[in-house]
Amino acid sequence: MIMYSWQSQQWQHIMQQRKNLPHALLLRGGAGAGKQDFAIELSRSLLCRAPVYTHACGVCASCGWFKEMHHPDFRLISPEDADTNEDAPKKKTTKKSQISVAQIRQLIDYLSLSSHQVNHHRVILISPAETLNVASANALLKMLEEPPANTLFLLVSNQPQRLLATITSRCQAIDMPLPSKAEALNWLNAQGVNNAEALLDYAGGAPLAALQASEDGDAIVALINQLSLGAQLQPFTCASAFLALGMERAIDTLQKWIFDLMSYKLTQKSRYHAQHIKALQALCKSVNLKALISFQQKLYDAKKMANHPLSNEMQLENILLHYTRIFN
Ligand SMILES: [Zn+2]
Repeated sequence: MIMYSWQSQQWQHIMQQRKNLPHALLLRGGAGAGKQDFAIELSRSLLCRAPVYTHACGVCASCGWFKEMHHPDFRLISPEDADTNEDAPKKKTTKKSQISVAQIRQLIDYLSLSSHQVNHHRVILISPAETLNVASANALLKMLEEPPANTLFLLVSNQPQRLLATITSRCQAIDMPLPSKAEALNWLNAQGVNNAEALLDYAGGAPLAALQASEDGDAIVALINQLSLGAQLQPFTCASAFLALGMERAIDTLQKWIFDLMSYKLTQKSRYHAQHIKALQALCKSVNLKALISFQQKLYDAKKMANHPLSNEMQLENILLHYTRIFN
């Protein structure tokens, strides 16, 4: 069972309406706070045949199906599940980035069958919901407009502002918080993470993102070493290393680096890269402030497009090439 201490209020709030839940809940908040785990735990609890207080019992048939990850009354819809026979051939470096309309249509068929457990819920978990494209969002909207009985749609979103307003308005929104710094550090220490405070800073206070950063620490350090080369960076040889993190995290890594270049240039302070001060110092001597600002905007735009299927190695090469040109 995964249930984070900083989510207990939200858990209670939902459990108070357990017998009378709305058709759709939207769990929203910054990435790395543990929303997805919360959503799975909630699904487990709602589908459990003999919950203990508010939690899944862990031993009934329903809980058993969850363990095997094939619960007949539960569906997880996320970009990774996308059909492999979709039209355009994809580069192997491109992660599935959208929830397709085919995935939502399959849901319609699935929901037209009755639930496997009499008088029980079905739960459809859609995560991250901002990866719905126009077609799949509209197909989902139709379902939310005429929601099937005993079915809970659980939407999880890091960027709720990108959802259709017509979808958001049909969901009860639950704000999922980040823990306090002390609580996050406690948790990271309990996971055996070294250097927890630096990693938590790097992750902007999001504990699961900090844990992830600790797991791919070496990969990120390697990328930072590349960025430290400034104008000497080889965009065409290192784009794939960035892309191995996935487009969104690759851009996130770049954004943090650029944030610190700017910060160091203006205030001689670094927020995320205390261990790379020397490199920042050196690059600040030659970085062009105006070019830096326009590059920052380019990254911001790229982040908004990060779930777009065209986001690929070529786009990242282009971004890295741009990076080498912000230095005089
Ligand atoms: Zn159970």
